[in-house]
Amino acid sequence: MSKKRRPIVAGNWKMNKTSGEALALAGEIARALGDFEPVDVVLCPPFTALHAVSRAIGGTRIALGAQNLHWEKAGAFTGEIAAAQLLDAGCAHVIIGHSERRQFFGETDETVSRRLGAALAAGLAPIVCVGETLDQRKNGRTEAVIREQVQKGLAGLDAEALGRLVIAYEPVWAIGTGMTATPDQAQDTHAFIRGLLKSMAGEAVAGAVRIQYGGSVKPANAKELFGRPDIDGGLIGGASLDAASFVAIVKAAV
Ligand code: PEP
Repeated sequence: MSKKRRPIVAGNWKMNKTSGEALALAGEIARALGDFEPVDVVLCPPFTALHAVSRAIGGTRIALGAQNLHWEKAGAFTGEIAAAQLLDAGCAHVIIGHSERRQFFGETDETVSRRLGAALAAGLAPIVCVGETLDQRKNGRTEAVIREQVQKGLAGLDAEALGRLVIAYEPVWAIGTGMTATPDQAQDTHAFIRGLLKSMAGEAVAGAVRIQYGGSVKPANAKELFGRPDIDGGLIGGASLDAASFVAIVKAAV
């Protein structure tokens, strides 16, 4: 099960960049990576910049992703966004269950599961985030927490649907803190997640699903992390806001 998959590196721009700034950043990244073949590259700007980034990466190999979606198709859900609107803006991917959504906006494994269903039904490729807090790790609960997030968040998905996911393992204590899981810590948890997928969908699916690492990935630590057998690229926050850093991280995934 340790055969490497095609790497995927995504930039999560969070609540940063106006559409003009996003256009400029995406343009810089597109000039450097537009026809770069060895790694799948995804940019996830805020909703207001999706169209601008879509323009900037048009005709390149770079894909567009959103940071969230609602499970209903349309309706009275103020402040939410639907799969059809993301497709209309040019998205191919969507991040679901990011720890900041779980921490600050009441996201649960149940809502993750509903969002996932909507994304898959619409043909969007989900990047599903899981990860433990520092307290949970200190108390030896990392595997129990991840098991619950994976089993509840991915509940009811058949092997075909599970095979369309990208999973991002993001230890909450490493996000935006400058603290990174060691490559061994990350590899251990990635292998654990792959084992969970195997029990849910069999060895072939588990061996094909890409599992990204996220949490203070920088050009200086990316190569070692991405070199581990079960780490198939990264979900990058802070360092994705700088074109040179993001490009270096993408190239480290080769
Ligand atoms: C993230 O929020 O997905 C993330 C990994 O952030 P950072 O790279 O800034 O730790």
